[in-house]
Amino acid sequence: MTPAELLTVLVGTPSLSGEEGPIADLVADLIASKGFQVHRQDHNLWFTFGKSGGTRLLLNSHLDTVPPCSGWEGDPFQPVWNGTRLQGLGANDAKGCVAAILLAAFELSEQALTGEVVVALTAEEETGGHGIATILDQLGPVHGAVVGEPTGLRVCAAQRGMLLLKCTARGQSGHVANAQMLGVENAIHKAARDITRIAAMDFPAHPLLGSQKAQITQIQGGLWRNQVPDACEFFIDLRTAPDQDHQALAAEFQRKLECEVTIHSTRYLPKGTEASHAIVRAALQAAGKAGPVGSGTTSDWAFLGDIPAVKVGPGDTFRSHTPNEYLTLPELEAGAAFYAQVVPAFFAMQVPHEA
Ligand SMILES: [Zn+2]
Repeated sequence: MTPAELLTVLVGTPSLSGEEGPIADLVADLIASKGFQVHRQDHNLWFTFGKSGGTRLLLNSHLDTVPPCSGWEGDPFQPVWNGTRLQGLGANDAKGCVAAILLAAFELSEQALTGEVVVALTAEEETGGHGIATILDQLGPVHGAVVGEPTGLRVCAAQRGMLLLKCTARGQSGHVANAQMLGVENAIHKAARDITRIAAMDFPAHPLLGSQKAQITQIQGGLWRNQVPDACEFFIDLRTAPDQDHQALAAEFQRKLECEVTIHSTRYLPKGTEASHAIVRAALQAAGKAGPVGSGTTSDWAFLGDIPAVKVGPGDTFRSHTPNEYLTLPELEAGAAFYAQVVPAFFAMQVPHEA
């Protein structure tokens, strides 16, 4: 199968999050046909090759896609080639990365490697469900990871996390006409004071990710137009940097605000890997880049625990989750070449006795 044929068949196999069964079947058959032993749990696949007992490197990307948005020309599930450009749902995010990792794995498995490669192609990345987190403990120890997402082959060594806070302002209800006399507290007014405080909050800039403001993304309060509201609820979405602690941030919001603050979601942890780590240096060398960059979007890296990782892959993050998403054949081929080079580069950088 040529690289173009592989990408075409992946894009032509629908795989919305939670419905990756058919693409997992297809990829499992392909891997098995190349002589690898395929492991599977739900719609997650993994296989290993190389020299066991030493350094192990994880290559990971995701099989699922978001549902098509509006604005597609033609059927998003039907891959269409225009010259060297393949258009179809998931072509960019992240089936190009999946194809590139598979092509690299097939090539590398013919070489004498000094370490072992673990390839994991996983499900439900877009929903954060039954994906990489559910199989991580079955992969065994790994000493580095490359997460395949469209970064234009830039080496992301820092990735933002997501802290979602639910804030509840409480007051007392009463007839609007009597509000002043009763001295009731308007919960929406209270929330508004807090929102003004939140908008003024600054957080330290991260060297690769820059600065970030907290955003109020949803608000609800009030039952009737003539009743002082006794409750107003709103959500804060703060995209965090690797040096920020979610619990400490939640406590800081609680200290500064009048409303009651509870953590709604903290599982998308921010991630960062030192530029001096072998996985960053190996990725920079393989990609031919001078230095790492930061990435504002989260990915399965958030679920990799303490494994030193970078996020790198062919394609463009700005094409993800947009209509007429595409990948070009030169991008795919450069991606496959990158993964094929990062593996031996990483193994070569290991201290001989380190395992
Ligand atoms: Zn993705």
